[in-house]
Amino acid sequence: MSEIFNFCAGPAMLPADVMKQAQAEFIDWQGTGRSVMELSHRCKEYIALANEAEQDLRDLLSVPDNYKVLFIQGGGRGQFSSVPMNLKGLGESAEFLLTGSWSKGAQQEANKFLQAKVVGNTVEKDGLLSAPEITPNDLDTKSAYFHYCSNETVDGIEINQVPDSGEIPLVVDMSSNILSKPIDVSKFGVIYAGAQKNIGPSGLAVVIVREDLLDYAMPETPTFLHYKTIDKFDSMYNTPPTYSWYLAGLVFKWLKEQGGLTAIAKKNNEKAALLYQCIDECDLYTNNVHPDYRSKMNVTFHLKDKELDTQFLTEAEQNGLVALKGHRIVGGMRASIYNAMPIEGVVALTKFMRDFARRNG
Ligand code: PMP
Repeated sequence: MSEIFNFCAGPAMLPADVMKQAQAEFIDWQGTGRSVMELSHRCKEYIALANEAEQDLRDLLSVPDNYKVLFIQGGGRGQFSSVPMNLKGLGESAEFLLTGSWSKGAQQEANKFLQAKVVGNTVEKDGLLSAPEITPNDLDTKSAYFHYCSNETVDGIEINQVPDSGEIPLVVDMSSNILSKPIDVSKFGVIYAGAQKNIGPSGLAVVIVREDLLDYAMPETPTFLHYKTIDKFDSMYNTPPTYSWYLAGLVFKWLKEQGGLTAIAKKNNEKAALLYQCIDECDLYTNNVHPDYRSKMNVTFHLKDKELDTQFLTEAEQNGLVALKGHRIVGGMRASIYNAMPIEGVVALTKFMRDFARRNG
């Protein structure tokens, strides 16, 4: 089979080396004669694996000691409900910056539990989409937290500047750009991310929460979603998604081997620059995001002639470039180029796009 480059937004491709390792130890993990999937989460081998994965994640993100790292079921949307349930004790309302479909989804779900107020929306700058800057003055000091999405997977909008929320805990949905670059964890109250882009298989979510925020859950919070309980049981209050946690651990090791987040950020910058350059240089393609907010993970673009969309996708697939169709809400195309996408995939895509533009321009 010729090489396939998978540009799916999620579940996304995982690093080839990780997949090969998982395959090699699929039915016999470290001489146990069993798959990781078949081990008790209470056995010492699995606990060692889980602790090591957590430590590797802490190392990669330089997570300060006063933050807990939780491995939780339920993906990104699970946290849309868990965050308000776990923080409602801080206030009856929370504030949301809306920059695309995912932050809107988070706000709508939170509104079931508290008053989820919108503090800002996507704005147009020179006809291009960008996010408004939020300052502590824009926020109500009585709010439980301020929530934003650092990378809108559907819309291709990434916020690089961490907003200043003053004394109000900052909560971020980092599902689609966690681990793509170094971040300062100490600026956040809660960081959460569904795993299926830069971490591992879908269904798992990683939550990094400042320990002083563990005491504010609504009394009705289901026990298995209660951060404090999850932490008390080292993310094993109920049986965790053991295989996903194992794969996430392999991805963290792989990231360390790549040189950590500074090194991976450099590669991500190069990949995104190549692709946006191609879009900007070919008349056939347009991107509607302001350069300061262009996502380095999800590169969205439209063909100027929509009639060519199907032909573009069919020919791309014939060339081994798959899953480029944009999200149904926005249409057009989207190339998701997470950590695992090698530069060769982006080079192959730009080569195809330039050739397609030449033939159809
Ligand atoms: N937030 C963001 C930014 C996402 O991209 C996604 C999924 N694409 C979600 C939340 C929802 O994740 P899940 O499907 O795992 O619930």
